[in-house]
Amino acid sequence: MTLGYFQRFLLIAGVFALASCGGREKPQSPRSSENMTSDSARQCLAGLKSKSVRFAGLPSKSFDGGCRMIDTIKLMDFGTQATNLGAMTCPLASSFTDWARYAVAPAAKQYLGSEVVKIETMGTFNCRVVNGGRSGKLSEHAFANAVDVSAFVLRDGRRISVLNGWRGSPEERAFLRRLHQSACRRFGTVLGPDYNAAHANHFHFDMAKSMRDGTAYCR
Ligand SMILES: [Zn+2]
Repeated sequence: MTLGYFQRFLLIAGVFALASCGGREKPQSPRSSENMTSDSARQCLAGLKSKSVRFAGLPSKSFDGGCRMIDTIKLMDFGTQATNLGAMTCPLASSFTDWARYAVAPAAKQYLGSEVVKIETMGTFNCRVVNGGRSGKLSEHAFANAVDVSAFVLRDGRRISVLNGWRGSPEERAFLRRLHQSACRRFGTVLGPDYNAAHANHFHFDMAKSMRDGTAYCR
């Protein structure tokens, strides 16, 4: 059967109408990368999929005070269990996944002779300013572009926290310092216990590089 020009037009228009309806009805569909507003976000998601990472696309939202979640996802499975991971920008999720796979896993083997089965975090999105003050520059957490990592649970039952391990046994120190160093190659900003007292109990990772010279900020 050969379709006339107008029939083909109707068919195509119908497919588009169905597609756009489906998009509106299910804004939180785990399959949806169509929520993404930019090509770079879509490319980033394709990269995550190619690394066998499972995630759910989240609807973009803006909040009072300038906080926003644009083109964010929730990581569902990247190979290691993790707690408290909420909305993350795709580049953050991608760097975090790589860090867990190619830094955390081998360092645990090398320094602790075990395997990390769970990464504990203190969350990702948080509508607040830098250093928890009342006013000032918004934190990268306000854009779902940062994650705070607090501890690692090993297969043998040990739990290495940033709070205790940073000044803990030689193996714990070496393990955490290796993770901090390798994070500096993967994230834009890395802050740990040596930065200030507010970071005594976690590593802060975000994707913002130094505004001055565009290099990673690592403390
Ligand atoms: Zn943080």
